[in-house]
Amino acid sequence: MKYSDKIINTPSSFIRNILKVASSEDVISFAGGLPNPISFPIVELQKTINDAIEEHGPKLFQYSTTEGYLPLRQYIANKYNNNFGISIEPEDILITTGSQQALEMISQVLINKGEGIIVEEPGYLGALQAFSLTEPTFYPVPLTEEGLNVEQLTQTLLENPHIKFIYTVPNFQNPTGITYTRENREAIYEVVKNFDVVLIEDDPYGDLRWRGEKLPYIGAGRLENSVILGSFSKIVTPGFRIGYLVTKNKELLNHVNTAKQATDLHTNIFSQIVIHDYLAKNDLVTHIAKITDLYQAQASAMQEAMDKYFPPTVKYTKPDGGMFMWVTLDEGLSALELFHKAMDAKVAFVPGDPFYTCKENVNTLRLNYTNSSPEVIEEGIKRLGKILYEVTAK
Ligand code: PMP
Repeated sequence: MKYSDKIINTPSSFIRNILKVASSEDVISFAGGLPNPISFPIVELQKTINDAIEEHGPKLFQYSTTEGYLPLRQYIANKYNNNFGISIEPEDILITTGSQQALEMISQVLINKGEGIIVEEPGYLGALQAFSLTEPTFYPVPLTEEGLNVEQLTQTLLENPHIKFIYTVPNFQNPTGITYTRENREAIYEVVKNFDVVLIEDDPYGDLRWRGEKLPYIGAGRLENSVILGSFSKIVTPGFRIGYLVTKNKELLNHVNTAKQATDLHTNIFSQIVIHDYLAKNDLVTHIAKITDLYQAQASAMQEAMDKYFPPTVKYTKPDGGMFMWVTLDEGLSALELFHKAMDAKVAFVPGDPFYTCKENVNTLRLNYTNSSPEVIEEGIKRLGKILYEVTAK
């Protein structure tokens, strides 16, 4: 059988492959990207599910509309209007099967084979994978500690008129944990407003902030081609697969709606109603505070351990929220080689390679801190530190 070029050219998820090796009981894993299961509001959801069956009856089990459950879209609109002072209506929102589906659909709607997408370097692997299905040309723009490198962004846009969209994760980025500064956001806006491109701000982690002030979106409320993606995966439950796309661009939204009809007709209505009723009856702010307290303690434990056990030349990001840290090793060291040594010592992480569109044997790696206790984090980092000292001494 001959398979399509697009599937042959789409990489299978490196992380999922790593997770298979890293999931054995005796491995300390910083490789996953999963929310901590103790953050799931299981008791409240159980009650909500029982009540919802009583209240909504067959509606929970029937086909539903493509755009999504109206009360849920109203809740999301209110959340934006209250927190960011931008005017979003339920009509501007499409509920998607996780924000992952929105990534794939946007690419389907905008990209003809070979057309350009600007991505962050390093960037979210799942987005690179979703976009690959439409066979685009990737234009990576490097991330700095402040956000996107604006000079390179400008140059890339000027040199490549077939670029259709820019994909960003401005809050607690996956994989680096970096948050774009206010100034960087403003500078990006000043550049992007002059080009006919869509700006995507994918924001599954924005609510998971434990330090500093919430920052405004780059394009929402002022760029015609602004798209925000959101998700309940990291703040309620990923298993329900409820994400959403917000845009004021009606034409774009209509096309995505058509893509969604073709893909899965609509997002699981049982999940949508249950999430909505859960949100209506519980205080999300209090729930999120529990998650951020937990993650902050884990992130601090990881930072303290790295200060203590890593060679001083190793650099790492210090996020104010989210789930990841990004480590940069000495020039010339390969994180992939380190990964194999670390697995022998029963510690796992994700080597940086899959987060780049065209680099190999990089000296960077991603650490997730949300799934181990502070004690286990210290032990894992200690083991990694020992290996790092061994390879650095060579
Ligand atoms: N975007 C980013 C940056 C992510 O890290 C993830 C999940 N790891 C997603 C989108 C997809 O999230 P979901 O489909 O669960 O909403």
